[in-house]
Amino acid sequence: MKGILYIVSTPIGNLEDITLRAIRMLKEADYIAAEDTRHSKILLDKYEIKTPQISFHSYSDDRKLAQLIDLLKSGKNIALISDAGTPGISDPAYKLIQTALENDIKIIPIPGPSAFLAALVASGLHMHNFIYYGFLPLKKGRQTLFTSWRNEDRTIIFYESPHRIIKTLEQIHKILGDNWQIVIARELTKIHEEILRGNFAEIISHFKQKPPKGEFVLLLKNIKASCSDTLQ
Ligand code: SAM
Repeated sequence: MKGILYIVSTPIGNLEDITLRAIRMLKEADYIAAEDTRHSKILLDKYEIKTPQISFHSYSDDRKLAQLIDLLKSGKNIALISDAGTPGISDPAYKLIQTALENDIKIIPIPGPSAFLAALVASGLHMHNFIYYGFLPLKKGRQTLFTSWRNEDRTIIFYESPHRIIKTLEQIHKILGDNWQIVIARELTKIHEEILRGNFAEIISHFKQKPPKGEFVLLLKNIKASCSDTLQ
């Protein structure tokens, strides 16, 4: 019988944010495919998980993929984890999941944290209709993307690295204008967790005084546009 590929969510900061089922699956799996095995070791040690790790990251080549698929085909169960949160959400997983499915391997998700979802529910912004972009394109396509947001009535969510936040907000502000609510979720679940709310000018001015540090989720909502749902 073929093995199962478990997609296991792990904490985005606070190591207590892991489910009992995730711990059990990580213990019971034959292997853990991890993005950075040294990073994951901290979590695995805390929960006394001794399952052998195999590295699987965005630069893993087809041989690594084939190795994992062969293990699954030979009946081994593999738990896939990333450095933080849910594998596949702006993290490697997609190619492995696709290839596993092509090989008739069962996929079981073990749900848990994801930074964008934690940020959304704490944002106070409309949360029934939203659109998640992950990391934005670095150069080409940014202008076109921001322009397409002019008529966006859903809450827009994306990840951004600290050294690009000010520039990104300035670029978006220039294109979208002032009628937008901005929420910045920083270092969620960690000691320096912070959620900032304001307009473009307020948030940009804040970061110019206090340069951004840590991990960030950015959320934008057009104030004028109304969302049509009723599940407020
Ligand atoms: N798989 C992860 C998830 O489910 O959210 C996302 C991984 S992606 C490579 C890493 C990015 O997620 C960071 O650069 C940051 O934008 C966001 N992120 C991860 N942890 C975060 C945290 N604790 N607080 C705020 N943003 C976080």
